[in-house]
Amino acid sequence: MLLLTAKPVAEKIRVEVKRRVHLFSQQFGRRPKLSVILVGDDNASQIYTQRKGELALQLGMDHETITFPKSVTPAEVRNRVQKLNQDPGVDGILIQRPLPKKFLEGDVLFWISPEKDVDAFHPQHAGELHLGLPTFEPCTPAGIMELLSHYQISIQGKVACVIGRSPIVGQPMAALLLKADATVIQCHSKTQDLKALARQADILIVAAGKAGLVDATYIKPGATVIDVGIHRTSDGKLTGDVLFEEVAQVASAISPVPGGVGPMTLSILMRNTIHAAEIRERARQHLA
Ligand code: NAD
Repeated sequence: MLLLTAKPVAEKIRVEVKRRVHLFSQQFGRRPKLSVILVGDDNASQIYTQRKGELALQLGMDHETITFPKSVTPAEVRNRVQKLNQDPGVDGILIQRPLPKKFLEGDVLFWISPEKDVDAFHPQHAGELHLGLPTFEPCTPAGIMELLSHYQISIQGKVACVIGRSPIVGQPMAALLLKADATVIQCHSKTQDLKALARQADILIVAAGKAGLVDATYIKPGATVIDVGIHRTSDGKLTGDVLFEEVAQVASAISPVPGGVGPMTLSILMRNTIHAAEIRERARQHLA
């Protein structure tokens, strides 16, 4: 059984990003900058935001986290995002999810200007992705594609099943697998006989957000299994949507939690940020 650990892949991407950040800073006389918006005091969100900031600084970028209390109005946050959109010193913006219920996702998706949308959630990016056009790719699915590529898991012609259809993970994941010539089965909470569909998969991606949903009976022998879920157990350990110990007996390759998809997501976020910075500065030079 092959353990699909992120460490070597994530590290390779971080080295490459650091090199590009260094070149960028030399060439344009400033560091690329990532601005993160955090609303409320959700503990997990605070930790994720802190990690993003620390990694950005480690790779030579500038970083700021702009925090708002839970009582803030959506209009106030939108105004702040608009200021960041217009700030020439800001290259990447992201709004940490989950947001309080009064924020309507269908509105928020449009707030960050596409050129600074390093999470790649803007409908323009989603549309480009689904049409198979070059675009910014959402960090988690793009990180999973890098993980599969690094471990030489072939995708072309394989049956891939994605459990989950969120706009952030499941949908873009299916689009990327389709673009890579897999035959894709997309499942969700209303899917009937999930197990029978999952068992057809050569590559099973589990992003349901349900701890321990997938056991060994969901797995085609020899399949590759990617666990996107993150949950904290009552004793403080991290666990995923997949029952690792038993699934590892049937699968030929499996990603662990922690140490699998999570670090890949972070690395791709950094890569999207330097990419956004390079595109904007080159466009500015071209116009000058
Ligand atoms: P979400 O709640 O927005 O979407 C979950 C999807 O799973 C939905 O489409 C739903 O229809 C489907 N689903 C739920 N229960 C199901 C069931 N019993 N059978 C089949 N489908 C079911 O969640 P999300 O934002 O897509 O995240 C999914 C999980 O991945 C969460 O645990 C989240 O914390 C984790 N996550 C991890 C990373 C990372 O970097 N590792 C990044 C994003 C999300």
